[in-house]
Amino acid sequence: KRVNLNLFLNRMVSKVKSLFDEKKVGLQLMINREFHLNLDENRFEQVFINLLDNALKYSESNTNVYINVNKINKQIHISITDEGEGISERELPYIWDRLYRVDKSRSRATGGSGLGLPIVKEIIERHGGQITINSKLGKGTTFNIFLEEGK
Ligand code: ATP
Ligand code: MG
Repeated sequence: KRVNLNLFLNRMVSKVKSLFDEKKVGLQLMINREFHLNLDENRFEQVFINLLDNALKYSESNTNVYINVNKINKQIHISITDEGEGISERELPYIWDRLYRVDKSRSRATGGSGLGLPIVKEIIERHGGQITINSKLGKGTTFNIFLEEGK
């Protein structure tokens, strides 16, 4: 289905906004023109809820999360950046593995099953897209999603 990305992302933001407010984490959506994508809205809702849930879960109060949308060459680039605890270089290769959770003791306190990211990756790849991660321990994390623009 052809989806208006602006409307879709605004809807995702309004879904999670109260949780962000509760923890005093800012949530900024930056999108400077209309974009359309061919995607399964329910599946992509799962993608964004998962990534925003992680961004919030692994951030401290009085930090920000940014959702940026740009066009690079012929692809739509959506990034979700947090200023949270980050992931060490050593652990990064494993985060896409099913049930993998960084620092089990730390993670147990925040809950979760470690299924979020493998599902996110599978949904994006089934739409012909890619997802990459950039992270620095103690600095924050960015997830980059690349998708073809819908005709
Ligand atoms: P679930 O999503 O199933 O509730 P989870 O959040 O622990 O559990 P994933 O979403 O798959 O599982 O993430 C895997 C691990 O990657 C997490 O346990 C966490 O350690 C790390 N991680 C994911 N996103 C972030 C982030 N934004 N900042 C820091 N660490 C992250
Ligand atoms: Mg998660």
